Amino acid sequence: MTNTRSPIVVVLGHVDHGKTTLLDALRKSDVVAGEAGGITQSIGASVVETQTPSSDGTNKKITFIDTPGHAAFGKMRSRGAKVADIALLIVAQDDGVSPQTKEAITIIKDSKVPFIVVGTKSDVLGVNAELVLGQLEKEEIFFEGRGGQVPFVSVSSKTGAGINDLIEMILLVSEVSEFTSDENAPLEAVVIESFKDKSGVVANCVVRNGKLKVGDLIFSENASGRVRALFDDKGKSVKEVLPGEPARVIGFSEVPPVGASVTKEKNNAFSPDLAGTRKVLGGNRRLSEDELPIVLKAERAGALEAIIASLPAKTVVVDSGVGDVNESDILNAKVGNAYVFAFEAKIPASIIKLAASEGVRVKRFQVIYEMIKEIEDILKGGKVEILGHAVVIASFPFNNKKVAGCKVTDGKIAKINKLMLMRGEKEIGTAKIVSLKKQKTEVVMVIQGEEFGVIMDPQLDFAVGDVLASVGNGK
Ligand code: GDP
Repeated sequence: MTNTRSPIVVVLGHVDHGKTTLLDALRKSDVVAGEAGGITQSIGASVVETQTPSSDGTNKKITFIDTPGHAAFGKMRSRGAKVADIALLIVAQDDGVSPQTKEAITIIKDSKVPFIVVGTKSDVLGVNAELVLGQLEKEEIFFEGRGGQVPFVSVSSKTGAGINDLIEMILLVSEVSEFTSDENAPLEAVVIESFKDKSGVVANCVVRNGKLKVGDLIFSENASGRVRALFDDKGKSVKEVLPGEPARVIGFSEVPPVGASVTKEKNNAFSPDLAGTRKVLGGNRRLSEDELPIVLKAERAGALEAIIASLPAKTVVVDSGVGDVNESDILNAKVGNAYVFAFEAKIPASIIKLAASEGVRVKRFQVIYEMIKEIEDILKGGKVEILGHAVVIASFPFNNKKVAGCKVTDGKIAKINKLMLMRGEKEIGTAKIVSLKKQKTEVVMVIQGEEFGVIMDPQLDFAVGDVLASVGNGK
């Protein structure tokens, strides 16, 4: 029997525009929030029970994917599986449309899911929704009541203003779109997070259709197994998972990649549009320090196979495929801190730009031998490579040390890499990064355009206007 099911919702938008805070506010609105008590482990998605009754008398529910940001969404979509039903495009009303907002718009439009624009930070003094609406109209997003159909909701996650309106709007969009499912249909589920821990292989999944039960035989791209245990988003052990619901699945033999479909039939285990063109050797497993993760693209399948066959040991192909380097390749490489190697495959100008802004290294070759040689060199760590630059814009004391306030001018600065202090052409010294902070938060990496504070060891004698170069040892 076909029923309507809870919508699955993702949140996209510029960093710091309030995605995480909004997800927290939405989770808090759950009518049974707090009842479970204690802190439960995230399973990559949360179910929020609303106050709106459905036809069967129970309250309507919404499933939110917990990982905000387009890198995660791109990764899920990159395998061809559909994950979300509705996207929320987050735009902070005190900041407006940014280049990352535009990227999110492209991803949402490509995915063809219905979306709602959420103007966050409505509590900030002097903000004006008009400004954001006008900027988005320039991006060809046309709003309800202004000649278009896209809904706009203004919210403050701080005060809670508008949160209920947003929930109502999500329910309304789902009603119009009618997301239906059938518990007796073949299982259609998607991996949203996966890793190995002491309980074995963990795959957090969302079920889109059919039913997943303890004891079921399940298949994914590189993995199969029997479901040993299922947990819901409140950490409760459950016997079955219904359409629209997320679950932690224990029982896979290998770690399936994020974005992979999960089915009960072996033949369906590959995403149809990618079958035969993609080979994932690394999956999602954690790499050791001497391994080199790469995303590999080639113009032709034959060349791709030849390259994979001749890669040196310790190279881990986290993703590969035939065709031009695209947005998903860059986002996958970013998530896996990998290089992108393209053999004959084209790299469009927009992708080169995206790679630069995401701090991803992309290299193109026309001779297989040269590509292999380059990979060997990187693995040997013999090459000094500059991963990015930042200019020192301020200096302030901290305990007995000095913090350098900087802005990344190109590439990326990652905490694991050393910094080289340059004054004009002159090299002043190198140091390790002790602390790397964006505003007050310790981070592992900053990218082009971002401002950060860094403490180095040894303390280099920097001055405003100096340049810090991030020096890779090839990784
Ligand atoms: P994300 O990077 O998009 O996940 O953004 P965060 O949720 O981390 O929010 C970035 C900053 O904006 C944090 O300092 C939040 O406290 C702040 N913030 C988020 N939502 C609101 C809001 O509704 N009002 C105000 N005044 N600040 C907010």
